[in-house]
Amino acid sequence: MGVRVVKFGGSSLADAQQFVKVANIIRADESRRYVVPSAPGKRFNDDIKVTDMLYSCHDLASDNKDISEVFDKIVERYNGIIKDLGVDLSLDAEYAEIKEKLINHASRDFAASRGEYLNGKILAAYLGYEFVDPAEMIIFDNNGVFLLDETVQAMRKRLENIDRAVIPGFYGAMQNGKIKTFSRGGSDVTGSIVARSVNAEIYENWTDVSGFLIADPRIVDNPKVIKVITYKELRELSYMGATVLHEDAIFPVRTVGIPINIKNTNDPDASGTMIVSDDSSEEASKYIITGIAGKKGFASINIEKAMMNSELGFGRKVLEVLEDNGISFEHMPSGIDTMSIVFNASLIDGKEEAVISQIRKRVNPDHIEVEHNIALLAVVGRGMRKTRGIAARIFAALSHARINVKMIDQGSSELNVIIGVGEQDFEEATRKIYEMFVFSEEEE
Ligand code: ASP
Repeated sequence: MGVRVVKFGGSSLADAQQFVKVANIIRADESRRYVVPSAPGKRFNDDIKVTDMLYSCHDLASDNKDISEVFDKIVERYNGIIKDLGVDLSLDAEYAEIKEKLINHASRDFAASRGEYLNGKILAAYLGYEFVDPAEMIIFDNNGVFLLDETVQAMRKRLENIDRAVIPGFYGAMQNGKIKTFSRGGSDVTGSIVARSVNAEIYENWTDVSGFLIADPRIVDNPKVIKVITYKELRELSYMGATVLHEDAIFPVRTVGIPINIKNTNDPDASGTMIVSDDSSEEASKYIITGIAGKKGFASINIEKAMMNSELGFGRKVLEVLEDNGISFEHMPSGIDTMSIVFNASLIDGKEEAVISQIRKRVNPDHIEVEHNIALLAVVGRGMRKTRGIAARIFAALSHARINVKMIDQGSSELNVIIGVGEQDFEEATRKIYEMFVFSEEEE
């Protein structure tokens, strides 16, 4: 029987009631043998995540201030869960040791990691699974760079004879023994590493939504769930602002093709989103497009010069000026005598005049301007490769809505079309494209 690795996010483990749901999910399928918990997250909107309280303790201790008030709240959260679950467990010795270390200026990473550590202890006791500390197996070098191969080797060895285990998320240790965490949300990465190490048939990532949505629900009303998405598509959408899964959670499983299933702890029967290999035979979405995501806050430098096309080294010189000024660019649409460079607007803050005058000096353009308040929208979908008329449909949707398109860029993989519009048109453009591809196809 295949093995499943299951990771549960903070809101899935925020209180005893959530723990009960988690245990039911795990017990419903015997192959769910390795469990990766986050620290307790928010129970309600204004609640504070345990990880954030631990960071506060660290900051207070660095200022030599008393941590007791905040630390007591953390203890209260865990003891509340233990009591409500009715598990026979006391973490008093652990609390005392952790508090002592925090007061004595333990590192920020150590402080944060205790959220997962303590939650893992409770979950292991509640499930009757063995607790395995990731500090023994997840390895970083002494500069804090994560070492995948060494980790997989160590983890395989450590878990070899352990049938069922709880492995806290978010942290490991450097070769010198010091605790090191991934960046925020990093339990997703731990789950992926465990899945890779035990050759899981699937990595289930349990959270509080039923998967990725085709568009941002703050913009589009009740968008549909993406049923299947490839690693590459996911990267395109995440880069443009879609969040659910930590960006680094893809790479440990990608090369070996273990699928990730995003599932909802509060609605376990929903199929969620399946993230699969780029060459998977899974059908592309029935909507041709897989998702739409976008971001505001871009600017572009627009340059015009007669006969630019035949001037050798023109582009290089312009890009060198940007490089010298630390501006990395996103897109570079060009015409015969025009060239535009689109980049994150914050990168040119305070240097606009200098950059323009340097470009003037280098290439002597007929016209140059900086345009602000640009939003970029990515329409992503592997189904677009095989379908004609995608661009026509996108632009018909936008033109009906009287939205002016400033830029268009189709990636060479034909996996995405990037569209630049004014920031004021961003939401409407997203809605129109969504309607064009999802609603209209629904009716067909
Ligand atoms: N507890 C950590 C955080 O809040 C890691 C995680 O939940 O994945 O960022």
